[in-house]
Amino acid sequence: MDCIFCKIVRGEIPAYKVYEEDDFLAFLDINPQSPGHTQVIPKKHFRWVWDIPDVGKYFEVVRKIAKAQQKAFNTDFILSKIIGDEVEHAHIWVFPNSGVSGDAKDFAGNAEKIRQAL
Ligand SMILES: [Zn+2]
Repeated sequence: MDCIFCKIVRGEIPAYKVYEEDDFLAFLDINPQSPGHTQVIPKKHFRWVWDIPDVGKYFEVVRKIAKAQQKAFNTDFILSKIIGDEVEHAHIWVFPNSGVSGDAKDFAGNAEKIRQAL
């Protein structure tokens, strides 16, 4: 299958992973809206967020990332978006508001900050 997120799950494309468990993976977006912009995805291919059977478990992972970003970037203001048109694999954007300090392109540094705050 030619899905870019499935390739990230399989390790065929590198990504700055911030969190991983059996069914879900969180990694930095390569075109960040702000420092630490993360994509949270199911490891299994689903087209839409609303196709995922255990969406409650999915949202617990999303919250875990949001809470870590609050600590890592010293802000309460974490945005999330569910749109789904860029990549045809279910994903949720989780990202600090653009007012936080830091370099959005410092992927290694931002991934480490989030991991430390988990
Ligand atoms: Zn996929």
